[in-house]
Amino acid sequence: MSIKENIKFINNKIEEASIRCGRNPKEITLIAVSKTVSSLEVKEAYTENIIDFAENKSKELSKKVNEFSEDVNWHFIGHLQTNKVKEVVEKVSLIHSVDSVNLAKEIQRVSKNKNIVTNILIQINISNELTKFGIDKEEVFSFLKEIENFENIKVKGLMTIAPNTENKEFLRNIFKELKAIYDEIKLKYKNVGNIDFEYLSMGMSNDFEIAIEEGSNMIRVGSSIFKKNEEGDN
Ligand SMILES: *Cc1c(COP(=O)(O)O)cnc(C)c1O
Repeated sequence: MSIKENIKFINNKIEEASIRCGRNPKEITLIAVSKTVSSLEVKEAYTENIIDFAENKSKELSKKVNEFSEDVNWHFIGHLQTNKVKEVVEKVSLIHSVDSVNLAKEIQRVSKNKNIVTNILIQINISNELTKFGIDKEEVFSFLKEIENFENIKVKGLMTIAPNTENKEFLRNIFKELKAIYDEIKLKYKNVGNIDFEYLSMGMSNDFEIAIEEGSNMIRVGSSIFKKNEEGDN
């Protein structure tokens, strides 16, 4: 399957999953995770109307942004070290992976210097043992409290990386749990400080349909878009 066919296939799956749970497929942003692929392949996806791309390393992000001049939204989804913040901030429309107060502080500092406001998501580690980064769900409210007055940050929602498992019910429960936390914050923190929830970033190649059924509105899909000679399903 070509990139074009892959994207068509995934768009169909997004539509089917949306219809199954009574949602409008237009609510869901498909982010093409372009880490490790060439700018040529990014271009190919762009030709198929993909305008959101994600990278997980600051160096590769800079390279892609330089090589690819079209007006697209770049997302940062990898673990971000504080000393790399200044290389990332102005290039991206959303940082999905804020996982410490220190990191938020540095994003605030750099953004303030540049006189911009940076959109971020808080990465939550729902499944605990299986992924290294992200804050515990129990900590999210105290975390918000610590960063809610950072004026050069907008806290736009939550992100999680589900464990790599075939156990669909397990995945479903993780997504359900994150959606519940998201809804609670969205409701309780309306107009509080810099909190303005709009995005729930969950779902990757292997689990985006379940994530959509459970309320995700940003899915991050890499291998299913850019893989070449494999079978077309996921
Ligand atoms: C690589 C990556 C993805 C995409 O994963 P695929 O399984 O290739 O779709 C999504 N989110 C994050 C944070 C990633 O690092």
